[in-house]
Amino acid sequence: MVSSASPLKANSPLPMIPVPQALETVLKETSRALWLKRGKTSSAPSSHQQLLGRVSALDVKAPSPGYPNHNSSIMDGYAVKTSDLTTARKKYDEMDEAHKEKYRLDFVIVGRVYAGDHDGDVSDERNDSSWSDSNHRKAAYVTTGAVVPDCFDAVIPIEDTEYLPQNGENLPKMQIIPSQVESVLRFTTPSTWMRRIGCDIPPESVVLSRGETIQPMHMALLAQVGIGVDEVSLKRLPRVGVVSTGNELFTTYDASSGATRQSQGMIPDVNRPLLLSQLSTYGSCIPIDLGIVTDDDGFETIANRLNNVLWDEKEGIDVLISTGGISMGEKDIMERVFVEGMGGNVHFGRLDMKPGKPTTFITIDRDSTEWQSRKLVFALPGNPVSASVCTELLVRPCLHLLHHGVELSPRSSQETFVENGVRNARVHEELMATITSDIVLDQGRPEYRRVFLNRILYKGCDQHHYTYTASDTGVQRSSRVLSLRGAEGLMVLPRGGSSGCGYDIARKGTEFPVLLYSSSSMSSETRFEDSMHRGLWEPEQHPRFRQKLELGVIIVCSSDAAVNDFQSIFTTLITSLGGENKASVVQRLVCRIDDVFAQKLHATISGPPMENVDIIFVIIPADPRAKNKDSGLISFKSGLEVANILCPILSKNAHAMALQVRKSAASQDPLAALFENVVGTVRENSCVLIACSDRGLEGAAVAIKGLLPHVLGTLKV
Ligand code: AMP
Ligand code: MG
Repeated sequence: MVSSASPLKANSPLPMIPVPQALETVLKETSRALWLKRGKTSSAPSSHQQLLGRVSALDVKAPSPGYPNHNSSIMDGYAVKTSDLTTARKKYDEMDEAHKEKYRLDFVIVGRVYAGDHDGDVSDERNDSSWSDSNHRKAAYVTTGAVVPDCFDAVIPIEDTEYLPQNGENLPKMQIIPSQVESVLRFTTPSTWMRRIGCDIPPESVVLSRGETIQPMHMALLAQVGIGVDEVSLKRLPRVGVVSTGNELFTTYDASSGATRQSQGMIPDVNRPLLLSQLSTYGSCIPIDLGIVTDDDGFETIANRLNNVLWDEKEGIDVLISTGGISMGEKDIMERVFVEGMGGNVHFGRLDMKPGKPTTFITIDRDSTEWQSRKLVFALPGNPVSASVCTELLVRPCLHLLHHGVELSPRSSQETFVENGVRNARVHEELMATITSDIVLDQGRPEYRRVFLNRILYKGCDQHHYTYTASDTGVQRSSRVLSLRGAEGLMVLPRGGSSGCGYDIARKGTEFPVLLYSSSSMSSETRFEDSMHRGLWEPEQHPRFRQKLELGVIIVCSSDAAVNDFQSIFTTLITSLGGENKASVVQRLVCRIDDVFAQKLHATISGPPMENVDIIFVIIPADPRAKNKDSGLISFKSGLEVANILCPILSKNAHAMALQVRKSAASQDPLAALFENVVGTVRENSCVLIACSDRGLEGAAVAIKGLLPHVLGTLKV
């Protein structure tokens, strides 16, 4: 039975939804597809398989006796019995120093075991005629990795011993070097320098978990516990078909299509080679080439052809990707193919993104009394860059989820199952990067820009960390495949203009999230629920991506100093806050200490000059003997007065931050510890105020830099 078809978007334009919302829909519907399959065999015992990168369908446990399967020596040396040493130790401890010096701790060598030997006939039960002292301590020579015979329980390294060759009737002996006797007696206990049976991998320990991706170390673990490649059950790889659509396409690698097809108006089909190989790098599916269909084939013919491959009993496919023919043009018939021709349901048909707006997601369900089944369809735009970006953003997490499945008790409800599937689905690894040049923002849609990344070591006062810069891959036109070349991630830029983020140009130095393209990113720990990208869903949740910080600086002094006298203060501030790309001083004022100082300071902070600044610095130069003394510098005592004036005008007082600032300033200049720092918000919480001395200013600014994101995040936008 074919489920009822949903309306076509050409008839009733579908809402344009944000990409994170689209991704949630995809993950939800993928989880539903998995729900329908639950309990059915989704694993296959492998034969001659390549395990690496595949996902285990079952827990694999180490059979008895685990690893190693014999007690083995970790050193070249002699296997001994610790009970012999206990007796010797007692005797030794009772000796006086003179006797201890003369004492010899020796052992009869009763055999030799090399790595690879069975322990063979080595035993301490020797009855042959050469065995003169049956009560003597015994030892067996062992090499690293050799079996330690059962009658011994510790190894003494060769370095602590000397060999005494056979002498007449006497068997060869090993003697502990006299200077080592004390330490050998003290430190040799059961299992010293030995690996016991199963000590590395005890029997029954899980060496490969259900749902775990097989890595090189699993290959080693399986080998150690003696489990063959063919014995591992793997999760089935979803089969993904890729079809290109369009009258204009020809296949470059098909010799028969030749030059005649390369006439005007024809273009090579690049989406199939691009997407089929892109999918194969994911390692989470079997890509299947479904060729090209032309627009003139007509929707019924195309639907029949695709239905046949989709539902083939043996070789059916789980996910179908088509490119092209999904916009609003006269020849764009793919939605009709999937909805009218194949009974699909459209879940979304327009994405609020550039590139990739017409991306459409469809599910096709078939129910019968015995079984239910679902296919997932991504109808992607024709331009190669759009098709590739949408595959990365939507198809990749979907395939990862399909392949790994949802780890949940089969008794849970469908709702819980789906909720879990969505929440725990793995998505792209993310990081924040600053742009290296201005970017004109698209006024219509958020943009997923292909970027190169550059990692920079940031050396802070007491901590180092990495920061990233991003530069785009050139013209971002959706037909320009070169814009994909070398890209390390997709930078998520907000929509520009008044209906978007509020500004038209993202300035050099602004930070934005980047979704990483790395080949291993989907096995990252980033869950959909925790991802930054998901947080960008609601426009009002879009973080206020800051342009440069705009600073207002008020210098408090006791003479008629001019602003220019304090140039070094401005320079220090800007440099410590990350340079001119990150911050600029937009207001510079000097406030003289006189009878009306308190009112003046108050009026300056709440008045028009500071209207649009993000941070107001009130700097109180501290040392009267400093080189700028003509400019009327003031003392720490005055600093305290300033703090008393400022505290009452704060909307919120940030004591903890003030303490951080003071500590950091003092670590640079101990005198700064005397200063009463003030940090808080002013102007109805729209701006941060920081009062500090010029002593240790660099340290203070660096501390502020680390703390600012938290404070600015709480400001009114
Ligand atoms: P469509 O969505 O079918 O209108 O296609 C949008 C643009 O992408 C058109 O310029 C198509 O020629 C181009 N295009 C569609 N499919 C492919 C393909 N497989 N390879 C290269 N370009 C394509
Ligand atoms: Mg087309």
